[in-house]
Amino acid sequence: MGFGQDLRNSHEGLVKLQDWELKLLETVKRFMTLRVKSDKEYASLLLNISQQVDKHDNSSQIHYISTVSKSWTHMVQQTEQLSKIMKCHAEELNSGPLHRLTMMIKDKQQVKKSYQSLHQQIESEMHKVTKSDLEKLKCTYRQLTKDAVLARDKYKEAVVKETEKARERYDKATMKLHNLHNQYVLAVKSARLHQEHYHETALPLLLDSLQKMQEEMISALKGILEEYSEITSLLTDEIVKVHKEIHTSIDQIDPLSEYDNFIEKKIFKKRLKGSVHCGLNCMISLYFSVVLLLSQKQSLEELRQTVQLLRCSEAKLMAQRELLEQKMQENEGKEPPPVVNYEEDARSVNSMVRHFLELHPKSHTIIFFFDVIPTSEKPLGEQEWYHGAIPRTEAQELLKQQGDFLVRESHGKPGEYVLSVFSDGQRRHFIIQFAENQYRFEGTGFPTIPQLIEHHYTTKQVITKKSGVVLLNPDKKWILNHEDVILGELLGKGNFGEVFRGTLRDKTLVAVKTCKEDLPQDLKIKFLSEARILKQYDHPNIVKLIGVCTQRQPIYIVMELVPGGDFLSFLRKKKEDLKTKQLVKFALDAAAGMAYLELKNCIHRDLAARNCLVGENNVLKISDFGMSRQEDNGIYSSSGLKQIPIKWTAPEALNYGRYSSESDVWSYGILLWETFSLGVCPYPCMTNQQAREQVEKGCRMSCPQKCPDEVYRIMQRCWEYKPENRPKFVDIQKELASVKKK
Ligand code: ADP
Ligand code: MG
Repeated sequence: MGFGQDLRNSHEGLVKLQDWELKLLETVKRFMTLRVKSDKEYASLLLNISQQVDKHDNSSQIHYISTVSKSWTHMVQQTEQLSKIMKCHAEELNSGPLHRLTMMIKDKQQVKKSYQSLHQQIESEMHKVTKSDLEKLKCTYRQLTKDAVLARDKYKEAVVKETEKARERYDKATMKLHNLHNQYVLAVKSARLHQEHYHETALPLLLDSLQKMQEEMISALKGILEEYSEITSLLTDEIVKVHKEIHTSIDQIDPLSEYDNFIEKKIFKKRLKGSVHCGLNCMISLYFSVVLLLSQKQSLEELRQTVQLLRCSEAKLMAQRELLEQKMQENEGKEPPPVVNYEEDARSVNSMVRHFLELHPKSHTIIFFFDVIPTSEKPLGEQEWYHGAIPRTEAQELLKQQGDFLVRESHGKPGEYVLSVFSDGQRRHFIIQFAENQYRFEGTGFPTIPQLIEHHYTTKQVITKKSGVVLLNPDKKWILNHEDVILGELLGKGNFGEVFRGTLRDKTLVAVKTCKEDLPQDLKIKFLSEARILKQYDHPNIVKLIGVCTQRQPIYIVMELVPGGDFLSFLRKKKEDLKTKQLVKFALDAAAGMAYLELKNCIHRDLAARNCLVGENNVLKISDFGMSRQEDNGIYSSSGLKQIPIKWTAPEALNYGRYSSESDVWSYGILLWETFSLGVCPYPCMTNQQAREQVEKGCRMSCPQKCPDEVYRIMQRCWEYKPENRPKFVDIQKELASVKKK
C-alpha cells in the first residue's frame, strides 16, 4: 500500500490533505505560542508573589529563630525556584519545538508547491505526447492521403497527355505519404511507451517521494509534540523536587518546639528568675484553649444571632396578632369595612396600603403595617437577595457568615435558579426545583421563587434535611455602576477623597464618598472596609449604605444623604438655637445607634461628634466606620502605627489596645460632653498628653453649662476607670428616654 500504488488518480485529494495538514500545524503553532506566553506570565506572577512576601518580611520585628519562619522562607524560595523553572521551560519551548514547528510549516509549504508544479509538468508532457503531437500527425496524415488520392486521379486523367510529369508527381506524393505513415506509426508507438512509463514509473515515483516526505514530516511533528509534552510536564524531576522541598519544609514546622528559641531568648534577655519551668507547656495549652475558646465564642455568637432573629419574628407576629384582634374588636357587630378597590391599581399591595391609610390616617400602626407587607409579592428581579446571572465564583465571594444567602440564575443553564448559602464554613448551592408550576427544594412548593425563599427565611425551615442549611441573612446587591450615580456639589472632604452630593437614577438623593485614584491598593481596600462594615447594619441611627461602585476608578461608596452634615459643625453653627431638650434627643439617638451596634458586636472605636451626621428632623446618625486614619489635626495622635483620638479613647484602649463596647461607652461620654458644651473641644486648654495624665490621676471634665444633672451623672459613669463599671448602651438609652420625657 502506498501513495504511488494506490493514489494515482487522487491528485485533488492529496492537495486537500496537504492543505488540511498545514492548517492543523498552524493551529498547533498558535497553541504553543500561547502556552509559551501563559507559562511566562505564570512564572512572573509566581516571582511577583514571592517578592511581595519579601517586602512584607522586612517589616517584621520578631528577633528569634522560628521554625515556622524558616519553613515559610524556604517555601517562598522554592516558589521562586518554581517560577524560574517555569520561565526556563517557556524559553525552551519557544526556542525548541515552537521554532522547529515554524520551520517545518515553511518546509511543508515548499513541498506542496514543488509537488504541484512537478505534477503539472509530467501531466502536461503526457498530454503533449499522447494527445496533441499525435493529433497533429494524424491531421497531416489525413491531408497527405487526400493529396496522394488527388495526385493519382490527376495521373489517370493525364495518362494520355503528360504521362511522364504526372507519374513523377504521383510518386512524390506517395513517397511523402509513406514517410509520414512511418512517422505516425513510430509516434503512436512512442506515445504508448510514454503512457506506460507515466503510469508505471513517473507518477508512482513522484507520489512515493511525496509520501516519504509527508511521513518524515509527521515523524518530525511527533518529535516536536513529544518535546512539548516533556517540557511542559509538571511531573519533571525538578518540579517534583520543588514540591517535595515545600512539603518537607512544612513537615519541619514543629508546634512543640516552635517557641523554644523565642523562650530561650526572652529568658536570656530578662534573666527571669523563677517561673521558667511553667513556660512552654503552659503556653501551648493556653494557645490551644484560646483557639478552642475562640471557636466556641463564635458558635455562641451565631446562636445569639439566631435567637435574636427568632425573637424579632416572634415580636412581629405578636404585634400582627394584636393589631388584628384590635380591629376585630373595633368592628364587632358593625358592618365590615368597604372592599378594596382594585380598579385602577393592579398591585394589591399598594391598594391595601392606601386603603389602610384612608381608614386610619393618623394611626401609628401604619408604619408597622408597611413592615408586615410581604416583600415576597415583589417580582424576583426586585428582591434584594436576587443577584441575577452572576458567576458561581462571584457568588461564593459574597457569602461570608453563617446563613448568608442569595439567589442567582445558573450561568451554564439559563432559566435554572440556584440558591447559594454559607453554612458551617462552606458555600452550598441548591438548584431550585420547578415542577407542576411550583418551586421547591424538598418540602413545600410555592408558585413563585420569592414566596419559596420568604417561607424558608421566616420559618427557618431547613433547605434539605441532609444539609441542615438554614437561611439567616439575605445578601443584598451592593454593586452599582458608576453610570447609576450622578455627582452633584461637594459636601466635604474625607481622608480618602472628596464627598459629594449625588442622585441615583430613581432620583434618590445620596452622598458619594470618592477614593483618590493615586492611593496605593491597600489604602483603597481600607477605604472599602467602611462599606463592608456598614452593609451589615440597618438602623435609623446608623448611616445607611446604598452601594459601592468598584468597576472603575475612582471608587465610590454610596450612602444615604444626611443633609445636616457633620454633628460637630452643626453644634457649633446652631449653638444659639439648640434647646436642652433637643440636645437630649441627640444623645438618645446616639445611644440607640450604639446599643444596636453593641448588639451586633460592632466596636466603633472612633465615636465622636465629628463622626456623627445630622439628618432630617434632626435625627442623629452614627457614621464614619473607617477607624485608623491618617488625618492629623491634633485629634488623632500618631502613637505607634495607628492614629488614635486620645481625648476620646478609654484608658485601657490607650494603654493596652483593649477596645470593647465598654471603651465605646467611654467615647460616648465624651460625645455627651461635646453635645452639651455645643461643640467645644474636650479637655479645653490641655494637650493630648496632659489630658491623658489627668484622666489616669482620676480627674474628669466638669459639667457643661446646658447639661442636666442626670445627664452629667451618666457621663461620669461612662468615665469609670474600670470598663466593667461603666453602663451598657441599652441602659443609657432607657435612662435618656426617661430624661427626655420630663
Ligand atoms: P472620612 O471617613 O474620610 O473621615 P467622613 O465620613 O468623615 O469621611 O466624611 C467627610 C465629610 O463628608 C463629613 O464631615 C460630612 O461633611 C460629609 N459627609 C460624609 N458622609 C455624608 C453623608 N452620608 N451625608 C452627608 N454628608 C456626608
Ligand atoms: Mg471623618
